Amino acid sequence: MGLIVQKYGGSSVRDAERVMNVANRIVEAYDAGNDVIVAVSAQGDTTDDLIAKAEEINPNASKREMDMLLSSGEQISIALLAMAIEKIGRPVVSLTGWQVGIQTDSRYSAARIKHVNSERIRSELDKRRIVIVAGFQGINKFGDITTLGRGGSDTSAVALAAALGAEVCEIYTDVDGVYTADPRIVKDAYKLDDISYDEMLELASLGANVLHNRSVEMAKKYHVKLAVKSSLRRVEGTYVKEVNQVEKMLVRGVTRDNDCAWIALCGVEDTPGKAFEIFSLLSQKNISVDLIIQSIGNGVKKDISFTVTEGDLPVALQILEDNKNIVNMDDIKWTKDVSKVSIVGAGMVNNAGVATTMFEALYDAHINISMIATSEIKISVLVDQKDAERAVVAIHDKFMLK
Ligand code: ADP
Ligand code: ASP
Ligand code: MG
Repeated sequence: MGLIVQKYGGSSVRDAERVMNVANRIVEAYDAGNDVIVAVSAQGDTTDDLIAKAEEINPNASKREMDMLLSSGEQISIALLAMAIEKIGRPVVSLTGWQVGIQTDSRYSAARIKHVNSERIRSELDKRRIVIVAGFQGINKFGDITTLGRGGSDTSAVALAAALGAEVCEIYTDVDGVYTADPRIVKDAYKLDDISYDEMLELASLGANVLHNRSVEMAKKYHVKLAVKSSLRRVEGTYVKEVNQVEKMLVRGVTRDNDCAWIALCGVEDTPGKAFEIFSLLSQKNISVDLIIQSIGNGVKKDISFTVTEGDLPVALQILEDNKNIVNMDDIKWTKDVSKVSIVGAGMVNNAGVATTMFEALYDAHINISMIATSEIKISVLVDQKDAERAVVAIHDKFMLK
């Protein structure tokens, strides 16, 4: 028997009945002789509710205070889950991020884990206790609580698995595994038996929020075997690992990401160095630019358009406004009503027809594409947000129908 890390998401612990269900599953793994560490998210919509509470009082609250507030959701769920396990009669201890010593960098609300102290957890496991750890949170060098970004409990679980050398990190959620598309959008989507770290990282980064993208990045780096499973149904899940592709599928998944905003700079001077000036101003403020299109200049003027996350939009617009004298242009246009729709698959390298098929699916569905980006294992297009779900369905139908 070995060491197992399990993670339960918000919907899996949303009420007393679900907490008891999770407690029973944990005890099962423990009774089989394993050492068990569990990372837990806040119950149900708690994190959203806490954000709404903060907004009632101060919509511009500092990120430090937001982290202090949001981390409380996970503190509630670890205590409740530990109580449920006590009720079943097994030894258990709940620990917050700082009690464990999950050290992060200082970026409030988007912190990265730098180190996980293993001593406290080891000593608890040595006493044969089940260890319940608050997901999503850590502590920075100032001794302040930080959070890891929405969906970050997955990353807490993988970090614990890596630090303590767990055999497997099981992510329990409200779906049976990783599907070819979000099953809430595509009825015909089907579960994948396994998927490579690289493909999963792309899917997660492009909007498949079944896993936090950093959790996949970390699992790959530290060779943690990840399993995504249902907390409610007892069925095989999906394994994320170094895959020696058994099933040779061209496209493994279709995603949609609504968290993007489009900015167009119209009539920028057509001289060398303009793109450099604009994008270095943005990167100095840590704003990552995603899709970029520059029109063919006429020697006098050109247009540059790009996307950023919705959260970065106000700052990006402010920077462009503040630097009007450097970034001369006729007009700035922007909108949040766009979505990025992507296909991912390691098998699409060297397959010239994939992009054409994707564009054909969109053409058949009368959906206009405003930007395109490709890499070895993905193709992304920008479409109107109102068309995004239809786009995912149309593309999925074209590639995936078995
Ligand atoms: P948890 O609270 O357990 O962390 P999340 O809501 O973060 O759960 O993630 C699970 C959800 O991810 C599913 O309910 C599903 O709607 C969504 N999802 C998006 N893309 C996919 C996909 N490709 N496969 C499975 N689920 C997906
Ligand atoms: N509770 C946090 C969130 O809602 C973290 C998580 O669920 O993973 O984003
Ligand atoms: Mg999640």
